[in-house]
Amino acid sequence: MRAFVLTGPEQGAVQEVPVPSAVAGEAVVDVERAGVCGTDVELFTGEMAYLHEGHSSYPLRIGHEWCGTVSAVGEGVDPGWVGKRVMGDTMLGDGTCRRCERGRQHVCERRQEVGIRDGRPGALAEKLAVPVSSLHVLPDSVDPVLGALVEPGGNALRAARAAAVGEGDRVLVMGPGTIGLLTAMFLRAGGAEVHLMGATEGSLEFARSLGFGHACTQDSLPGLPFDAVVDASNAEHLPALAVDVVEPGGRVVYIGLSGGPSRVDTRSLVLKDITAVGVLSASPGLGATIEAYASGAVDPRPLVGATVGLDAVGAVLAGQRPEGAGSAPKIHIDPSLRQ
Ligand SMILES: [Zn+2]
Repeated sequence: MRAFVLTGPEQGAVQEVPVPSAVAGEAVVDVERAGVCGTDVELFTGEMAYLHEGHSSYPLRIGHEWCGTVSAVGEGVDPGWVGKRVMGDTMLGDGTCRRCERGRQHVCERRQEVGIRDGRPGALAEKLAVPVSSLHVLPDSVDPVLGALVEPGGNALRAARAAAVGEGDRVLVMGPGTIGLLTAMFLRAGGAEVHLMGATEGSLEFARSLGFGHACTQDSLPGLPFDAVVDASNAEHLPALAVDVVEPGGRVVYIGLSGGPSRVDTRSLVLKDITAVGVLSASPGLGATIEAYASGAVDPRPLVGATVGLDAVGAVLAGQRPEGAGSAPKIHIDPSLRQ
């Protein structure tokens, strides 16, 4: 089968690789759609922390935002899974440690991450194999585009919930990329007044096209009381700004990662009585995200700028925008497309 393989920093291509077989407890899924995300770009450039910590190494088969149809199952798996449309959790805890036992498998010390960590091949391929326990069934109303947006959506839903705002509250989301915009969509669906802050006018233009009229740069940030601030950016200075602009008694949520350390003065957290929350992974938010998409409460499909084949992955990772992608932040891959 065809799979996109990273062989080193800035090096990757589609290769013929063996078709995965379904081992005990696992399922093979025919990939219908997969997203390319910032983590994939960092694995491509070689910047990703796991590459330096020994959790990931080349050759690397990336892709962790995906949906598809189960085509085979291994020993001990109900054959009823075959034919089901599914998406899967990126985080695969070892299932035996204290954290896993307490429902925190997404932070298991010995976890694999599909397409990211510890050699578990990802979804930028015609097929992938994953534990059946990591699968979520998709209802018919969740189409392939939505299906491949469940994983980033789960991250965003958790960030939105951590902000703990609703009707009558005002929230600021910093960083209008895929995660920031998805978080803004979940917050808006919950009834909050959502403001977006971006570095460039171009990114704000796109946010406005999604109906987010309150879109600003740091220079034009209005002096309004924000009951919560979500940092979904990769800017080192914004985690501290989030604390500066949030209302006393409010919440700051950190889901963005910068290239270097960000410093927050904890005295400000104490003196303003602020709750700060970090969010890693979609795992505990996947089911609720599927429900939100299925009901139409949140429809993130406009975030996808283009859908291309595996042969285009290298160019996408290198930062080239497919023709017609506009300023929508997400690029999707359909492995059945051949250029
Ligand atoms: Zn564990």
